[in-house]
Amino acid sequence: MSFTLNDLPLREDLRGRSPYGAPQLEVPVVLNTNENPHPPSPRLARALADAVAETALGLNRYPDRDALRLREGLAAYLGHGLSAQNVWAANGSNEVLQQILQAFGGPGRTAMGFEPSYSMHPIIARGTGTGWVSVPRRADDFRIDTDAALAAIAEHRPSVVFLTSPNNPTGTALEIADTERILRAAPGVVVVDEAYAEFRREGTPSALTLLDGHPRLIVSRTMSKAFALAGARVGYLAAHPAVVDALQLVRLPYHLSSVTQTVARVALDHADELLGAVADLRAERDDLVAWLRGHGFAVADSDANFVLFGEFEDRTRIWQALLDRQVLIREVGPPGWLRVTVGTAEETAAFREALLAATGR
Ligand SMILES: *Cc1c(COP(=O)(O)O)cnc(C)c1O
Repeated sequence: MSFTLNDLPLREDLRGRSPYGAPQLEVPVVLNTNENPHPPSPRLARALADAVAETALGLNRYPDRDALRLREGLAAYLGHGLSAQNVWAANGSNEVLQQILQAFGGPGRTAMGFEPSYSMHPIIARGTGTGWVSVPRRADDFRIDTDAALAAIAEHRPSVVFLTSPNNPTGTALEIADTERILRAAPGVVVVDEAYAEFRREGTPSALTLLDGHPRLIVSRTMSKAFALAGARVGYLAAHPAVVDALQLVRLPYHLSSVTQTVARVALDHADELLGAVADLRAERDDLVAWLRGHGFAVADSDANFVLFGEFEDRTRIWQALLDRQVLIREVGPPGWLRVTVGTAEETAAFREALLAATGR
């Protein structure tokens, strides 16, 4: 008899759940998890290795539990008059979000999101025993219907509201005025997940501009996307210092290793290089949107480094046909739509060619 997880004394609320699972396949063109396609240069890799070698000489000691120098660097990067007291960092923004739910969610409380959105928000909510309320986005343009949002907030009184801007998987950015209305109505904390902030189009403000005067606002960011550092696992948030104090109650001691702190600090010192491709990726994104529309596909406006396009009667068939041509994209979002990450010019060209072949256009 085979023994499975169903035979374990698993928590009832985890039975039948699926783990997060973007396929990790070895193909030449990987455009499925919104990574920056440009690896660090050999020069930067050397600087990272040298700094890690230095750190290694002290690995018998626990790391700086408060990651103070890293938080100073992140605050300086964000600007907006923020200091280390406003910033908190963890192993990817997913850990930051988990800590937020541990502190502000939990059993008997609910978190709310506007879907389709990032699939990890409900998964982390459930993992922390927090109820999940899903409010649909508008079907025509994937924007949040602010009046419906306020009604849902009044009905469910969520302890945590997730706003993702630019939203994954649709690419949709949120108007600051709408964020502000939701902030005023929400009884708990409001998390604006800005994982793709650096890719937003000119004139789209960040929720960082609202931090002053809104102590229940949390803006989360990551080094995984624009910063081209997904493998290092560094995410962070900006908020009122009281929020950072609250997170100290749930974070594990020494959660951020000395090696991670060093790598992140060196990366910040080389922000110009790491962020150097962002302008090109944004231009490539805009070209891809125009190209897809030119070929008759429906495309959501995108402020991120990916594009949601459709609509397909059988999107799995299209996804597979692209994979058969060595191009991996993501089957995610509303039925009939697919998401492609903006890669290098060569990768995006390979995607276009494979899509035309797959769809016969
Ligand atoms: C990719 C992504 C993240 C980043 O997660 P990390 O743990 O920092 O790698 C966070 N939020 C959204 C919406 C994302 O798409």
